[in-house]
Amino acid sequence: MRMAEPNPVRGGEWSGRQVLVVGMARSGLAVAQYLHRRGARVVITDQRPAQELSREIRRLLEMGVAIETGGHGERSFQEAEIIVVSPGVPAQLPELEHARSRGIPVWGELELATRGLPGRLAAITGSNGKTTTTSLTGHLLRGLGGKVLVGGNIGVPLIGLAEEADAETITVAETSSFQLETVRDFHAQAAAVLNLTPDHLDRHGTLEAYIAAKRKIFANQTAADFAILNAEDAVCRDFAAATPARKFWFDASGAKVTAGMMRNTEAILWKPPGRAAAPLLTLDANPLRGRHNLENAMAALAITAAMFFSDRQPGAEQRARLATALRSFRAVEHRLEFVARMEGVDYYNDSKATNVDATLKALEAFAGGLWVILGGKDKNSDYRPLAEPLRQRARGVLLIGAAAEKIAQQLEAAQIAVQRTHTLARALATAREQARPGETVLLAPACASFDQFQNYEHRGQIFKQIVREWEAAAGQSPQPDEPKAS
Ligand code: ADP
Repeated sequence: MRMAEPNPVRGGEWSGRQVLVVGMARSGLAVAQYLHRRGARVVITDQRPAQELSREIRRLLEMGVAIETGGHGERSFQEAEIIVVSPGVPAQLPELEHARSRGIPVWGELELATRGLPGRLAAITGSNGKTTTTSLTGHLLRGLGGKVLVGGNIGVPLIGLAEEADAETITVAETSSFQLETVRDFHAQAAAVLNLTPDHLDRHGTLEAYIAAKRKIFANQTAADFAILNAEDAVCRDFAAATPARKFWFDASGAKVTAGMMRNTEAILWKPPGRAAAPLLTLDANPLRGRHNLENAMAALAITAAMFFSDRQPGAEQRARLATALRSFRAVEHRLEFVARMEGVDYYNDSKATNVDATLKALEAFAGGLWVILGGKDKNSDYRPLAEPLRQRARGVLLIGAAAEKIAQQLEAAQIAVQRTHTLARALATAREQARPGETVLLAPACASFDQFQNYEHRGQIFKQIVREWEAAAGQSPQPDEPKAS
């Protein structure tokens, strides 16, 4: 007879359970650790060969977790009472399909972490802006005095935080479509969808499947919960019918909403359901550049409203605390991150802009005077949409990496002059030589990084390191206008 599904939080029930964890990346390791501590008999499996996993394996062996590498053993799947999959593992893996057909629960880390999670859960998804909005939401909720945990797809697996939560906690979780795909009992008191553009179609196959995965963020919601939706996004508007939760809209265009966050030329306004809208804070309290970041800020404010003042206008003190919190937020690393002002020139690191769409948003965040560093590993992209904004805003375009020639051809056909600088260091040095005070050097490469870097974080770190070394050298120099180092 199959046992009832274990509930990890009600304690004890994992003891002696045979659990298979599929995928040995950050989230799989955190899951294995969590379940092992609760007395489960954990096997963890990964397709990668043992040589690639030596560090992880050492840690797991120390813990006493059984390990399978280089492929998935049939027996492990057969013996498992429950299977926990990492977000990178395709949900349609034949072994998983087979397990499901035998009634074995197949959960993602998100499902495991949020089952029975005490307190309230605010979940955030969308094609772009998840990380920024998630960390800003955490920052705002803390500013209002909430006990807040922030995790999920943002680099800190939620499972590692679950034990810290109590009835007062608000957990803010960045959730990807991959994680949402496998949820069942997951229940977010506030579920936010920022936008939906075709992305990750390689994994989900069709736009419909991608949208269906995102829609699961509303799983198990009731009329007591909240859905936070972008009024300007067609898919978000369709989603309104997918949940019985109360809808809080955000609309950065200036249009009115029935309930939620809207804006005029000076302020963000909050409209509680059935009540009049009133200014919540002035637009200049938002330190993040760009229209897209106004959307992210409005979404984060709407989630905060759902958690703290869903049916009324907040008092003056709460408004002041909210404004202070927003003002003190700094862009998440590598997302239009301000690095330095040197010789009157600003340096921004948007290494996370790994596709053309994100680069367009970055360009739109500046009025002009840009020196834009583009290139890296091509993702079969069409770079022509960049031509017009570059014509309007850029004084120079510096190309690096494997995609440089393709980008050059597409931009030159649109009469945009480019400089082929090959490496990031040379691009930066070239930009520094030519930029005038008041201008901006922007790394927003529209490409993946893997041709010259380990990942986008590494690329952004190199950018910052070079700029900071210059800054330190300039700081030590008694002659601020001495010739620049190349
Ligand atoms: P995600 O976690 O969804 O990838 P991030 O906050 O890390 O989102 O931002 C990734 C990139 O997407 C940033 O470099 C930025 O240029 C762009 N971006 C951020 N927010 C938005 C938004 N609301 N709409 C469109 N693009 C955005």
